[in-house]
Amino acid sequence: MIYKNNRFFVENISAINIAKKYGTPSYCYSINKLKNNIKEFQNNFKSIDPIICFSVKSNNNLEILRVIKSYNLGADVVSMGELMIALKARIPAKKIVFSGVGKTKEEIAYAIKKKILLINAESESEIKVIEKIAKKKRKKVNIGIRLNPNVDAKTNNKISTGRKIDKFGVDKKNLIKIINSFKFSKYIKIKCLSVHIGSQITNFRPYTRMVKEIDKILSKINHKFDYIDFGGGMGIQYDNNTKKLDYKKYLGSIKSFLRRNNVKIIFEPGRSIVGNAAILLTKIIYIKETSNKNFVVLDAAMNDLIRPALYGSFHKIIPIIRNKKNIKKTHSFVGPICETTDEFLTTKKYSQTKESDYLAICDVGAYGIVLASNYNLRTKPPEIIIDKSNIKLVSKRQKLINII
Ligand code: PLP
Repeated sequence: MIYKNNRFFVENISAINIAKKYGTPSYCYSINKLKNNIKEFQNNFKSIDPIICFSVKSNNNLEILRVIKSYNLGADVVSMGELMIALKARIPAKKIVFSGVGKTKEEIAYAIKKKILLINAESESEIKVIEKIAKKKRKKVNIGIRLNPNVDAKTNNKISTGRKIDKFGVDKKNLIKIINSFKFSKYIKIKCLSVHIGSQITNFRPYTRMVKEIDKILSKINHKFDYIDFGGGMGIQYDNNTKKLDYKKYLGSIKSFLRRNNVKIIFEPGRSIVGNAAILLTKIIYIKETSNKNFVVLDAAMNDLIRPALYGSFHKIIPIIRNKKNIKKTHSFVGPICETTDEFLTTKKYSQTKESDYLAICDVGAYGIVLASNYNLRTKPPEIIIDKSNIKLVSKRQKLINII
């Protein structure tokens, strides 16, 4: 995704042509970017040969999942729907892990039936339900237990998951209790210890702390795990000031962990695979000039991309036809939804724009379309995939007639 002669291109296709053909707002993916991200992730951890389970919650587009499958990745799912779509993308069940604090009986029964790699349980009550269903089916089910390591990922408070105040996993004390209670179960085999301390982590230190914490726990527990699932959370550079996560340091701590523990490592990345592989194309409806700032009212809104409204997340917004002339005035890029929080970005200066110009909201591949809604009874946007010079509309814009 680059400018050529001041026009923004997604692979070989000019963004303006995509916007004109499919309208706006529209999600638009670069397959090349996605493939490069997968290869980069695989390379970063090649030396430890992990099982990489793509976190389907970050993006569940079937075409995206098919690309992910073609690189032999597995899947991390958190609902029956995600499990179904991962299987539909032909991701082998033996490479699928199922996370989440509130799996229903129906979901657990389905996961058992499909013989997935692991159900990563998050409470003793859940394990009892798994055991009951397994007994009824006369099966022995492989499970993981998600540990809450009480490690602060030092990321956005709203996407931190590994502190004791967070709802996820079980603490050390309960972990030991659970292992002892189910040690001799005929229907359950505790094969994995899983963790996931948060998302958009760009500092390696919380990861190394997490690895050390698990190492410490394993040295005290008399139980052989086949897998340690370190979760996902690897951050990306939404802005130029964010440092890249130091994968070498993270890997170093895992390698030293592996010298003491003979286990297979699982990762569950989402954002780092798909985050920067999409833009949201949008058009300026109005520019409202006030004494202290310009409100740039876009046709995209928080129902299309909720991350800025929900988490205060930063997403770069760029013109798809570059204009070198900058206006030194505060610009607030907002959507049409009747909420003050429906704002994407405020910046002190911006290149000169006018009504009907097209813009691209960047890095929206993860937690973008999956969080879209019909709020204000607006239709969900389409998804378009660009592969070199090929354009494919993979999910159509919803029609009002179908949601009213
Ligand atoms: N695994 C679990 C259990 C998660 O909850 C999440 C997301 O929050 C992920 C993996 C993926 O995280 P990320 O997209 O930050 O890599």
